[in-house]
Amino acid sequence: MAIFAPLILLIEDELPIRRFLRTSLSSEDYRFVEAESGQQAIRLAARQPPDLVILDLGLPDIDGQDVLRQLREWLKAPIIILSARDQEKQKVTALDNGADDYLTKPFSTAELLARIRVALRHANKGSGEAEASTFATGDLKVDLANRKVLVKEQEIHLTPLEYKLLTTLVKHAGKVLTHRFLLNEVWGPLHGRETHYLRVFMASLRRKIEEDASQPRYLITEQGVGYRFTAE
Ligand code: CA
Repeated sequence: MAIFAPLILLIEDELPIRRFLRTSLSSEDYRFVEAESGQQAIRLAARQPPDLVILDLGLPDIDGQDVLRQLREWLKAPIIILSARDQEKQKVTALDNGADDYLTKPFSTAELLARIRVALRHANKGSGEAEASTFATGDLKVDLANRKVLVKEQEIHLTPLEYKLLTTLVKHAGKVLTHRFLLNEVWGPLHGRETHYLRVFMASLRRKIEEDASQPRYLITEQGVGYRFTAE
């Protein structure tokens, strides 16, 4: 248990959004520091390393992507980016450059707080800890030690690639994974652009594990970005 509440670094030049973030974070007793430019953010982060960063991609002095790259050189804390609706490509680039999640403006306090909780939970897992061998949520159970997948206690047959895709998503439950990341993990580095593989395998996975494949409960599409496994 941490003695202090997690420290969050807010990097956002627009005052109304900063005010909104401030109010949202205060409701959960998070501690936070604010930066209105990239330079200031990098200085603040170095002086007092945050537990989580919220980074707006459109900053007045340096490109948000550069701030992200500079922070990622040494900072392990999760970074959630804020992007505008027309910044789809930038969002994907940021995720591939080491951002952990994104929020598209406008977003709600509930959305923001949920993303922060997931990101902090991932960060706290740490690399030294043993991972659980069984993952269960709702009526789905993935037994990683025995390579078994059960839905409502019934074993489901998955092909090796379907299994790999599902377990990759499950191991990062709650986190958005880009097309490129998933293709790399499941098919290997030579297939980084073949998003149609993903669509095909995701459709068959959904048919096998979702109650209603057209309204997935676990395997969520992040339009133009990738997929996210949501656990309850
Ligand atoms: Ca901005």
